[in-house]
Amino acid sequence: MAYDRDETTSWAGRLDAELRYADPLTILNSAVAAFGDRLALVSSFGAESAVLLHMVSRVKPDMPILFLDTGLLFAQTLDYRRALAGRLGLSAVQDLRPAFTDLAVTDPTAKLWQTDTDRCCHIRKVLPLDRALAGYGAWITGRKRFHGGDRISLPVVEGLDHQIKFNPLANWGKAELDGYMADYQLPAHPLVAQGFPSIGCWPCTQAVQGDEDVRAGRWAGSEKPSVASISRARRGLSSMSAATSRDANLTCVSRLKPASWVGLIYLKVAFCPLRQIRLKA
Ligand code: SF4
Repeated sequence: MAYDRDETTSWAGRLDAELRYADPLTILNSAVAAFGDRLALVSSFGAESAVLLHMVSRVKPDMPILFLDTGLLFAQTLDYRRALAGRLGLSAVQDLRPAFTDLAVTDPTAKLWQTDTDRCCHIRKVLPLDRALAGYGAWITGRKRFHGGDRISLPVVEGLDHQIKFNPLANWGKAELDGYMADYQLPAHPLVAQGFPSIGCWPCTQAVQGDEDVRAGRWAGSEKPSVASISRARRGLSSMSAATSRDANLTCVSRLKPASWVGLIYLKVAFCPLRQIRLKA
């Protein structure tokens, strides 16, 4: 299925009108019927991810699941990703990692998040996701309107340049999510019990108080939007910037001195999941 930009937008608008009040499984089935193997789910394996992952396991368990392993996730998230994927029989989970060359050139000490969160998210999230999504006609997210912010007016189907984005849980609130988790006895992310209703990288995630918004603990104190929003806003430039970044990386790698190659190997070791931060229970 190939559309130009206008066709994509108008097709998405029509489908959104059709599915606006549909239940999540109907939306998922429609997405699979329209895109088949050219459809992927982007999942953080975070606090509410089990619901959509379980639905995908019922509809198409071999659907590609794209998981952004930024290198700065909680160890509990990596454990949860392995355990949940195994339990649900999801056979095509892909771990998306930042390019070693991007890390070597832009964030060699893994402290960029302290000074420039936009740049840090760009190399650890936006670029890996853009590269992976280039091969698909459509993708599914777990975003919901009740999370507030720029998600309040979230459509069920969005047209993004030449791709379509489905948000099957857009209409669901916390009660529906909790009900689904209970009905299917799905395991919660281990950090939920410690006060984390939304879970991302450990440097940018905090526990929240009971009456705070779900996402109050993400980039607390900053106006930073989600990476999905950043990715959506720049989607029109994504292929060009990803290609430019690849070219820049190749140029940078070809110029690396021997000492830099040692640094690159160090980064590869430092990036080992066994070295991730574990929050004590
Ligand atoms: S969430 Fe924080 S640590 Fe993770 S990529 Fe973005 S700025 Fe970096």
